[in-house]
Amino acid sequence: MAQLPKRAKVVIIGQGGIVGSSVAHHLIEQGWDDIVGLEKSAIPSDIGSTSHASDFCFTTSHDKLNIYTTKYSQAFYEKRGNYVKCGGMEVARADDDERMDELRRKVGSGKAFGTNVSMISPKQAKELFPLLNEDCIQGAMWDPDAGLVVPRSQSVAGDLVEEAVATGKLQAFAYTPAIRIDVQDGQVRGVETHKGYIETEYVVLSMGIWGPLMANTANSPLPLMPLEHPLLFFGPYEELAGTGKQIVYPLFRDQGNSAYVRDTGDPTTTEGGRIEWGYYEAEDPRLVYPGAISEPREARMSPSMRDLTLDQVMDAYEKAIEMTPILGELGWEEKHSFNGLLSVTPDGGSLMGESPEVRNLWFCEAVWVKDGPGAGKILADWMTHGSPEMDPHSIDIARHYPLQKTPDYVYNRCYETAKKIYTPAVHPREPYMTGRRMRTSPFYLREVELGAYFMEAAGWERAHGYAANESTLLAKYRDRIPVREHEWDARHFWEVSNAEQLEMSESVGMINLSHFAIFDISGDDAETLLEYLSVAKVGGTISHGKGVYTHFLDARGGIRSDLTIIRRGDNDYRVVCGGDTGHRDHCWIKRIAREKGLNNIRLQDRTDELATLGLWGPKARETLAQFVTNPDELSAENFPFATARELNIQGVPVWAFRISYVGEQAGSSISRSAMACESGICCTKLVLRRLALKPTPTRAVWRRACGCRT
Ligand SMILES: Cc1cc2nc3c(=O)[nH]c(=O)nc-3n(C[C@H](O)[C@H](O)[C@H](O)COP(=O)(O)OP(=O)(O)OC[C@H]3O[C@@H](n4cnc5c(N)ncnc54)[C@H](O)[C@@H]3O)c2cc1C
Repeated sequence: MAQLPKRAKVVIIGQGGIVGSSVAHHLIEQGWDDIVGLEKSAIPSDIGSTSHASDFCFTTSHDKLNIYTTKYSQAFYEKRGNYVKCGGMEVARADDDERMDELRRKVGSGKAFGTNVSMISPKQAKELFPLLNEDCIQGAMWDPDAGLVVPRSQSVAGDLVEEAVATGKLQAFAYTPAIRIDVQDGQVRGVETHKGYIETEYVVLSMGIWGPLMANTANSPLPLMPLEHPLLFFGPYEELAGTGKQIVYPLFRDQGNSAYVRDTGDPTTTEGGRIEWGYYEAEDPRLVYPGAISEPREARMSPSMRDLTLDQVMDAYEKAIEMTPILGELGWEEKHSFNGLLSVTPDGGSLMGESPEVRNLWFCEAVWVKDGPGAGKILADWMTHGSPEMDPHSIDIARHYPLQKTPDYVYNRCYETAKKIYTPAVHPREPYMTGRRMRTSPFYLREVELGAYFMEAAGWERAHGYAANESTLLAKYRDRIPVREHEWDARHFWEVSNAEQLEMSESVGMINLSHFAIFDISGDDAETLLEYLSVAKVGGTISHGKGVYTHFLDARGGIRSDLTIIRRGDNDYRVVCGGDTGHRDHCWIKRIAREKGLNNIRLQDRTDELATLGLWGPKARETLAQFVTNPDELSAENFPFATARELNIQGVPVWAFRISYVGEQAGSSISRSAMACESGICCTKLVLRRLALKPTPTRAVWRRACGCRT
């Protein structure tokens, strides 16, 4: 074997899996050279998740980016002759109307995002999948493009590495585990192995379940947990002898039982002559700490395979026999069955992009086989062009705030996500139960008193309505509140919030906006930096105190984020971002400052220090006027739209910004009422210093004066 080089442009750690091999392939396709791939095991991997994946590829998802990566991967595998398009179905059990609704919704999403899914009857399902007991189902969703990676994703990984090595642009080293990533001055410098140190500019982590261990050596935590996934085999199944195929029937998913089934084809093929049954434990999923993964020499089967007992899956297995009776007729192949380890994340999404903590450390983690090549393409595009073709915010590692990467948070959220891999249908507004009350504003206890309906965003508890307003406001606005007839539409939604919005549009209301991220940027380079980052002019001739709603763009000119920037002085700005996107924006500001050498800035994250209230509605000004020392300060002349100023509200120093997020000046009934207000003061954003906020009588007066009583 060649000697480990001392230097390389890129080091890929975890070269032998489907993800590392796809990354190498796509980097080379994008013109990258001088790549070194390190692999702890053989190449292709004989210990990673790829080495024993079921290799299903379904395009059924509600997520556009996910459908993109799967469709790209299917086409990639197919072009190479590594794909059998056998089709696949997801069924709704006879008594499971909720699943049936979910399948219909999935067909809607699939159609919107360009897949060929459709609903089929039990009879059609039986014709396509003869192993089915059609009496068990009320309908199914059919995906004609679903299929299987053949002969295995593991062999595709091996071929991709071999081809990449043949180009002379990749040197791949099996049995060469990385030990540590060397970081200096916030930037990747090299990788340590037992065989020596490699100095490098870029590191890509594609280590699957081992990822957090290596990320920790760079002090860049990776929020991911390995999860045990039971996979069982039954046989011998001789019916498909003579077909010569690796799979004959379509893939079959019974999510109502958290399970899937497939045949393994003609007994003469490598893994043929069996029925494979996979299951996701929805009651009490087994998470494994990355540090507890065995070393290859200690593991009975493989580090990513753990022992399985039939008891563990018995209830689901019995239900599966009703649906696919063949499972009860064949013998259980205990020796082939196991719990395989795969990656889960706190929100179920992949973890990709550049580390928020370390420059040039890139992640391609928590990626399924069905998305492997698509993820490789996205990462290579991102590293080459600064952004991928599709908006990556839902997979960007930077979406996680530091407090969302702490061990307890990661464990608990991964546990919740693991329960939902197959069952039940997950509502887009479904709140998480864990990781709550991590960030609360000084108004929190008062909101609790008012019966707030809290949801969570970026660790903040956010009230979506108050029970205290129900008796008065629901009665007042009943005939104007849209009726949400469908239970799904009404789930996790409180109609009092519609009533509160109407009251606010007609009178005044106050909303706790403390989850907004607030960054103060000052220093000699502040103007140049923000002018570079923003689409709108925020410096130059923009006067002090003026606020501008603007966008940050990505390298392709696509919208990266929308935010508001207020010029506070020559080189003094306040940047206000949405809670969800705040950390991504913070990382971006820091990254661009570094890239452009605009180091003379002071970037302060004030989010946890300032409490923010929005005061909206036609009576906003007159309400506020009751509490400020000098009401003249609020006149249209003294406090024009989109400007900020200091106010004193009964002794509390407040930084107020006059802005609207509610569109009063468009032509709706809401806008008419807002425009009818004497001067169009529609929203005043008040930023109060946290420590100044004590439950004083002042606040009681303030609450009484506001329609929403918050
Ligand atoms: C039972 C089972 C069934 C599955 N079925 C499906 C399916 O049907 N469809 C689907 O899409 N997905 C499926 N998956 C998920 C899929 O297998 C994984 O998501 C995918 O294989 C992850 O690929 P990877 O390359 O990221 O990780 P891996 O394949 O685990 O590769 C990571 C590599 O990193 C290497 N490594 C670790 N430490 C080091 C180190 N220090 N230095 C160098 N290298 C290191 C490992 O040796 C390994 O080769 C299944 C998973 C399991 C367990």
